[in-house]
Amino acid sequence: MTLRFASLGSGSRGNALLVEFGSTLLMVDCGLPRKVVEERLHAVGRSPRDITALLVTHEHTDHAQGVATFARRYNTPLWMTPGTASAIRELVNVKTLSCHRPLEIGEITIEPFPVPHDAREPCQFVFAAGGRRLAVLTDTGHVTAHMHARLEGCDALAIEFNHDLVSLQRGPYPESLKARVASRFGHLNNAQTSELLTKLGRDRLQWVVGLHLSEKNNTPEQVRESLGPALDGARYPLHLATQDAPTAWHALD
Ligand SMILES: [Zn+2]
Ligand SMILES: [Zn+2]
Repeated sequence: MTLRFASLGSGSRGNALLVEFGSTLLMVDCGLPRKVVEERLHAVGRSPRDITALLVTHEHTDHAQGVATFARRYNTPLWMTPGTASAIRELVNVKTLSCHRPLEIGEITIEPFPVPHDAREPCQFVFAAGGRRLAVLTDTGHVTAHMHARLEGCDALAIEFNHDLVSLQRGPYPESLKARVASRFGHLNNAQTSELLTKLGRDRLQWVVGLHLSEKNNTPEQVRESLGPALDGARYPLHLATQDAPTAWHALD
């Protein structure tokens, strides 16, 4: 058995990601319309009823718009922090988790950790199974020392490259939104994520998958350019998730 993951779509218009080990299939966020999630699940060879549990990072629409309808339709157990649960309407079947306490769902151990983002009680996750660790990190304004410690020694990172800072500043967003995105409680820009990657131990890294790229303030070329030396000669490939299609499955051998 191998721990593996696939993005069903990622960006400011919606996010959902799958993590699988053996018969345990977790979905992280359901920020796309339910029908779109169903189609993309089928595209990666899974169906809604295969999902063991749905974990929600925070209440923003691009992560939570499909949560309530999906969970009601398929009777999917939901897990999220109390703060996130308090901010999403019409939830059923919710179990709350602590940002500071690992939990096990099926054969996967989940280590939640808190992130600085402008939501009620946002968290992100490290998933561990079969001796491998996958970190999923989006929607954070900066990287705290605690987050850095959680991300150290992972075998794969699915991580936010939200914007190029200059493109954001020159781009079409209103000033208030620019300030929000670039703030310490907004989103990681290419330089921030690249710096994190150069500081993390990378010996075990098999995959880096870029998530939540802005369609207005970033390009795949800018992401690769920002990584520069951290990517050159690296043994891990960089794949970039897109808004409108799922990625392939990425296995942690
Ligand atoms: Zn988001
Ligand atoms: Zn958010």
